[in-house]
Amino acid sequence: MRENALFDLHVHTKYCDGEGTPDEIVRAAIDKGLEAIGFSGHSYTAFDEEVCMTRKGTDRYEERVRQAAKDYADKIRVFCGIEQDYYSEEPTDRWDYVIGSVHYVRVRNANGEPAYPSVDETPQLFEEAVEKYFGGDVYAFAEAYYDVLSDVVRKTGADIIGHFDLITKFNAGGENGGKGRFFDESHPRYVAAWQKAADKLLETGAVFEINFGGMNRGSRMEPYPSRPIIEYLDARGGKFILSSDSHNASTLACWNR
Ligand SMILES: [Zn+2]
Ligand SMILES: [Zn+2]
Repeated sequence: MRENALFDLHVHTKYCDGEGTPDEIVRAAIDKGLEAIGFSGHSYTAFDEEVCMTRKGTDRYEERVRQAAKDYADKIRVFCGIEQDYYSEEPTDRWDYVIGSVHYVRVRNANGEPAYPSVDETPQLFEEAVEKYFGGDVYAFAEAYYDVLSDVVRKTGADIIGHFDLITKFNAGGENGGKGRFFDESHPRYVAAWQKAADKLLETGAVFEINFGGMNRGSRMEPYPSRPIIEYLDARGGKFILSSDSHNASTLACWNR
């Protein structure tokens, strides 16, 4: 593929939490003039009952994507990938590529059992997780998140590192001196946490995605990761791709038409 080819490799379907079949989405991608599209359904993750694909749904997803790849081979290249959550234990060798993402942090609840608070579900759940599992210390939550993220390429075998600073999803605006709703993104503990993860992930040579999903859904004004992180990675030889994290065909390649 040309370096400036129009493609989008972070796309969800009805088999996880998106809308539309692979066939419908490929047709929309052709209409938009894309040269390639890659699907990245959420990998089956045992404790997640809402967002990810079921095991059976995963087979169906692959079947449908591979079929669309054949049906439209003369018009567009279609890849069948996966968005592999850090805590998913499914094998990944069947996929054309892997986006490695962290959506949860594993902690212990009061009874010593594992719990998986999500960093991106709702602001209320975010706040609750900080209180319940991190003694009200939001920076401890961020440190735990980046600690898991720093290991995402080793654990998932990712080619692409998904939405690096997803933990900032609900942080825009707020009362905190204009510095963020839940935490200050220039706080030394926050910066040290992401820099440590960035340094470790840069060593892997995996590609960082610049993810427009939050912007597509109108929940934020900038992509993931934030500008200081992109500049840090860029200065150290990080490689990037742009992706829409589309959950319906209208946001493919980050623009509506
Ligand atoms: Zn994700
Ligand atoms: Zn996604």
